[in-house]
Amino acid sequence: MNALVLKGGRVIDPSQGVDEKRDLYICDSKVVRTLSEQPDVIDVSGKIVCPGLIDIHVHLREPGQGAKETIQTGSWSAAAGGFTSVVAMPNTNPVADGPDTIAWIKQRAAQLAVVNVFPTGCISKDMAGEFLSPIGQLKSAGVVAITDDGKCIQNNDLMRRALQYATMFDLPIMDHCQDADLSNGGVMNEGYWSTVLGLKGWPNIAEEIIVARNAMLAELTGAHIHCQHLSAAGSVRILRQAKARGIPISGEICAHHIVLTDECLKTYDSNFKMNPPLRTQADIDALIEGVGDGTIEYLASDHAPHCEFEKEVELDDAPFGILGLETEVGIYLKYLVHAKIISLHEMIRRMTIVASDLCGLHKGTLKVGSDADITVLDPDLEWTVDKHQFLSKARNTPFHEHQLKGRATMTIVGGKIVWSLENGLVSHS
Ligand SMILES: [Zn+2]
Repeated sequence: MNALVLKGGRVIDPSQGVDEKRDLYICDSKVVRTLSEQPDVIDVSGKIVCPGLIDIHVHLREPGQGAKETIQTGSWSAAAGGFTSVVAMPNTNPVADGPDTIAWIKQRAAQLAVVNVFPTGCISKDMAGEFLSPIGQLKSAGVVAITDDGKCIQNNDLMRRALQYATMFDLPIMDHCQDADLSNGGVMNEGYWSTVLGLKGWPNIAEEIIVARNAMLAELTGAHIHCQHLSAAGSVRILRQAKARGIPISGEICAHHIVLTDECLKTYDSNFKMNPPLRTQADIDALIEGVGDGTIEYLASDHAPHCEFEKEVELDDAPFGILGLETEVGIYLKYLVHAKIISLHEMIRRMTIVASDLCGLHKGTLKVGSDADITVLDPDLEWTVDKHQFLSKARNTPFHEHQLKGRATMTIVGGKIVWSLENGLVSHS
């Protein structure tokens, strides 16, 4: 028996409407009501104790791109960011479009990951946008959603059929919203700065037109569609109107899109190159308004590690994507909670039970009998991002030396402390 008590913290569990100072008891891997034996005691007074945070949008890069990140190092990075569960995108090498790859990922995660890894499968075979992948087989193999993230299905008929199939298997479809003709070769936001810098632009309309397409297909099929990493003001407006009409559609932001603008590219630093690109302050304002009024419910990272040598090339040639897991909580606490856009309780709700429900993870709660996946937060801790301290294998962050307020201080997965700010990664081999 392994008994643990987290003593004196403020427990916030939106799944039960709990927000009060109380002790939390853990026995073996579960949350329990009381303990009969002498527990290990951890003093968490002054801290927030909440269900383990969930990130529904991360890239762990395996199979095939272990030089960028591995399932193991990605899980370390998640733990250090306060996450107990991550939903892994399928644009690996090979892509996760069949049950064998999903089985490989699950086995690898079971052996090496320190957090829960939930794989997704591709919408289309080889992510080529031509033929549907075997969605039923993917479901049987254990995927929690399907997406061609990194690419967007351009063929509207294929997307319609994907939505119809996905509902049969009760899987959400997540979509990377990008019209390939409109964004054609763009490397940054189309606007003033792309003109000044002489770089090819990726305009807002390329995202907005697919969000509108998705809303129409969701209405037609009744299938839920989740729009990933929204960046453009018009996307928020379309989503708000669609949701008001009861269409089953949802949206997500990633932390960098509410903090940084396209002006950051003026040094041609590829750590500001991401897809969709950084936009303007007006877009940021619209995204934040959308988060505040509940139009955008999901908060994620789009953690996208790359090797340093890949990013240290001309901006046009550098890959899209930045790290996210280890800065995400600090950014959301600083720019959403401390900025009074949403409450701490609401941020935790969205990053726990709401995220869990989207993908049917059965996580995100501290109910008695549930898995003891727990995050301890210090929402007022001021800290400076240091990319050299990251547990990710990669270093491509635009937030190096950024001042943040709020951080996870301990991550517990299945009743075991896997990481703490004090002691770092804890090995359980
Ligand atoms: Zn992504």
